[in-house]
Amino acid sequence: MSVPPGQVAIIHSPAYVAPLPDGHRFPMNKYFYLLEQLKASGLAKETNLFTPAPAPRAWLDLAHDPAYVTAVLEQRLDDKATRRIGFPVTKQVALRSQLSSAGTVMAGRLALEDGIAINSAGGSHHAHRDFGAGFCVFNDVAVAASVLLEGGEVSKILVVDLDVHQGDGTARIFASDRRCTTFSMHCAINFPVRKAESDLDVPLDPKTADSAYLATLAQHLPPLLARERPDLVFYNAGVDPHEADRLGKLSLTDGGLATRDRYVINTCRTRSIPIAIVMGGGYGEDVPAIARRHSFVYQAAVEAFP
Ligand SMILES: [Zn+2]
Repeated sequence: MSVPPGQVAIIHSPAYVAPLPDGHRFPMNKYFYLLEQLKASGLAKETNLFTPAPAPRAWLDLAHDPAYVTAVLEQRLDDKATRRIGFPVTKQVALRSQLSSAGTVMAGRLALEDGIAINSAGGSHHAHRDFGAGFCVFNDVAVAASVLLEGGEVSKILVVDLDVHQGDGTARIFASDRRCTTFSMHCAINFPVRKAESDLDVPLDPKTADSAYLATLAQHLPPLLARERPDLVFYNAGVDPHEADRLGKLSLTDGGLATRDRYVINTCRTRSIPIAIVMGGGYGEDVPAIARRHSFVYQAAVEAFP
């Protein structure tokens, strides 16, 4: 174990928060609030906090086109590429994307050791091989899955993406790679307008609420785990399916999100499948409230691994 009993490894860097233009709708500060809340509630301590170093270029090149990686690292993206991402890719934003990718690699490795680990950022699932989109620069889960697969640390990965938006970048990056299976359950009419094809897509009607959502998840996740028998699951625990989310269009309550997180973690745990968790989306004016929704998955993790 990398952490004392009763704790779950959390990967965090203060540089996960990078400055954005004033009033930008991406709530970058949620990563700051989240860590403050986790410390206040005792879920994050000195003994279970890990800090990533920036992902080396070779890792990024496994999931991304080298010319795109260069353009990000040298801040030379053109206007069109920048608009598609939705914020300027400054030196700090590029560093944050490298750190977040390395954090998800670390979460994968610690999950293989402990059964579970959580990156307090990540889930940049709209980043494609050769372009970024929808506030996503590098696809941290695709980078981490590629690093672990190429290094022979695992031979089969399942991505469970429950962010309200389809995990289109991840689906396309692994479209022809049978070593990584992609599952996305998302709102049918939300971004991206043109959906990719995951190995399993479950589109939900707008306003889908707790009971229908949880029943649909319970219908798909166990058979998928039984069929794929992955060595590791990457779970995108986006909180934007919440009813108060500014971009979500679904109607989950706090309790629904917390139940979802417990369900995914316990479904993996009872099958002895390690699970590495990333934060994914969560949008709105009330940033501490968004951070609190992200904290549910940490609580669920500690309860599942006492
Ligand atoms: Zn999202």
